[in-house]
Amino acid sequence: MRQFFSILIFVGLATLVQAEPLKVASLSTVLADIARNVGGDRVDVREIIKPGSDPHLYEPTPGDIKKISNVQMVLASGLGFEPYLDKLRSSLEKSGVIFVVAGSAVKPIACMEEDHHDHGHASTDPHWWHSIANVEAVTMQIRDAFIAADPAGTATFEANAKAFEEKLEALSKWVRIQLAALPKSKRILVTSHDALGYFAKDNGFEILPVQGISTSDQPSSRKVRHLIQEIKERQVKAIFAENIENPKVLRQITMETGATLGGTLYADGLGTGDAGTYLGMMRSNVTTIVGALQ
Ligand SMILES: [Zn+2]
Repeated sequence: MRQFFSILIFVGLATLVQAEPLKVASLSTVLADIARNVGGDRVDVREIIKPGSDPHLYEPTPGDIKKISNVQMVLASGLGFEPYLDKLRSSLEKSGVIFVVAGSAVKPIACMEEDHHDHGHASTDPHWWHSIANVEAVTMQIRDAFIAADPAGTATFEANAKAFEEKLEALSKWVRIQLAALPKSKRILVTSHDALGYFAKDNGFEILPVQGISTSDQPSSRKVRHLIQEIKERQVKAIFAENIENPKVLRQITMETGATLGGTLYADGLGTGDAGTYLGMMRSNVTTIVGALQ
């Protein structure tokens, strides 16, 4: 009997040791959401970049670097989205922190505009999460990284990843049904920052960017005039501002073309409230797009 109780105590202790969650820092609000879905209770996700902030303007602070050096794994978008990534990686080389970079799991597409390099983006479009297929690939990548770091959690990570993948499949179907309301001639996105290339490619949209993919540069007046002409000719009903963008130039365009401001699209990551999850963010974008262009 005594032996039985010692076994119970031993098993109890082993469970306690296992229950210490894997510490993960995320440089992307989308990756944080995927990690929470796949990791469940076994993973403690720390968001370095908060929802609603502009990741293009972010630079790691000394406090952030300290936070990151205390985790076992860092999640990054890659594809040039974090211009500071290489530096951060080499500064943490000795700490043994594992870097999981989503860009290596997705099918990258090229940027449309020539002046993309203006703001730290490479010639590859880094906004990979606007394709649901890419999010599915990254879900598998994160699942595998969690399994490698915490093999005891294999069954949990596999079951969670499968459940999330099913939600992504359902989202894909829902998006197709919603977009069926828009004929090809109406699938034109005029946005303030060229971030929806993956969404456009998946769903047969054409993008007319107001400026490069920069969130800070002012577009030239020649470019704006050209865009105004195109919006008039193609009878585009609405153009879009973004959650973190100053929509001043967009207002000027609406006044001259008669197009309305179609509402807010989440381009650079998750928002708050209903748009605070990947599923909610995509639903919000698609609802906004269909509602404005129909
Ligand atoms: Zn962006």
